[in-house]
Amino acid sequence: MKITQLATKTTKNIPADETAKNAKLLLQAGYIHKEMAGVYDLLPLGWKVAENIKQIVREEMNAIGGNEMLMSSLQRKDVWSKTDRWDDKQVDVWFRTQLKNGSELGLGWSHEEPITDMMINHISSYKDLPRYVYQFQNKLRNELRAKSGIMRGREFTMKDLYSYSDSQESHQTFYDSCIEAYHRIFQRLGIGEQTYFTYASGGAFTKYSHEFQTICEAGEDIIYVHEQKKLAINEEALNDEVLGELGVKKEDLVKKKAAEVGNIFSFGGTKSEQLGLYFTDKEGQRQPVILGSYGIGITRLIGVITEMLSDDKGLVWPAQISPYLVYLAEIDQPDQADIICQKLTEAGISYLHDERDIRPGNKFADADLLGFPYRVVISGRSLEAGGVEFKERTSSQAETKTIDEVIDLIKAKS
Ligand code: ATP
Ligand code: MG
Repeated sequence: MKITQLATKTTKNIPADETAKNAKLLLQAGYIHKEMAGVYDLLPLGWKVAENIKQIVREEMNAIGGNEMLMSSLQRKDVWSKTDRWDDKQVDVWFRTQLKNGSELGLGWSHEEPITDMMINHISSYKDLPRYVYQFQNKLRNELRAKSGIMRGREFTMKDLYSYSDSQESHQTFYDSCIEAYHRIFQRLGIGEQTYFTYASGGAFTKYSHEFQTICEAGEDIIYVHEQKKLAINEEALNDEVLGELGVKKEDLVKKKAAEVGNIFSFGGTKSEQLGLYFTDKEGQRQPVILGSYGIGITRLIGVITEMLSDDKGLVWPAQISPYLVYLAEIDQPDQADIICQKLTEAGISYLHDERDIRPGNKFADADLLGFPYRVVISGRSLEAGGVEFKERTSSQAETKTIDEVIDLIKAKS
């Protein structure tokens, strides 16, 4: 990819009302565009990061039996009324609209109700269970505050998976496998060390729900971390009872600011009873289906990773989610640059080729701002020194290498 074909540019002009570090940097680098408070577009580079995150999540959800699908954003009032969640008193983030004939519609802030209602068509017997469906969907929420950039959007991308099981045991088995899958996801995203399995307040059915919280100054949650046990308790759920059940002492917990990157819930059979999702068990008895719900904030993750890894020069992406692996800055060596591009392509290494006729310093500044893991410079000087100049985004030291050495090094690292 040539930078002159990229639809976006880096900029110094960012909206004056933008206060969040993640949004400021992503706007500056041209990864996102701000439509209005809490609403951001994903531009080509930001879209690539989102797609790379989604692919990791997709692989792990497929590995535990998830079927990917896509539900609509327009939702029926009657479905949400059945569980008493249409009213603003129950759900304070609804956006609503109307058909021409005046009937009310909701804009999806979650899909627990519509998806469960939909599954009535596909589940009637124990032979139809368990079932796991998921989607990457843009949720619409009328959030009161939108001051954390893309970490709290009024429109944002979520992965939501729903599990349908015929017994509490079968549900628990899946719930546990999803916890393991989430750990693998955050590990693969490069934030495994800082992400804690967290006990949070539960719903009507269970005492606790579980969150995945990533330690982050810009996060909106307060959690209490137990380092040895590698778990945390959300401030809202911290009491003597939970401490007793987890066998931890208050004084061993460390208070931290964190961002909720994932959230998993058990609903038992309540929602199925309200919506009418029943199955016939082996004995011929009619039973409500056991429901679980499992979210991950895809666009919030982009914000969290930005907050955690970026430095004073700009963004820093882990290789596995970076839009491109290499920023190739060409300084007056078009023929050599073409050879390098060909070699990188053959090696399957993605790159953005900066062939603009601008000062080298501006290229380097953009390379730092865009945050790809590796920078390769080809110039008359580098050729004299014996090849290209190679630098990792997180290091200040550039080294001269042949392009073949660079390719081997990048391959070895990924
Ligand atoms: P929060 O407590 O942060 O308001 P929530 O508990 O309402 O989130 P869920 O409904 O469980 O969140 O959504 C699943 C995941 O979606 C969350 O864990 C979070 O990562 C992400 N998420 C929720 N709200 C937003 C938002 N407004 N903007 C971006 N991501 C969000
Ligand atoms: Mg929450």
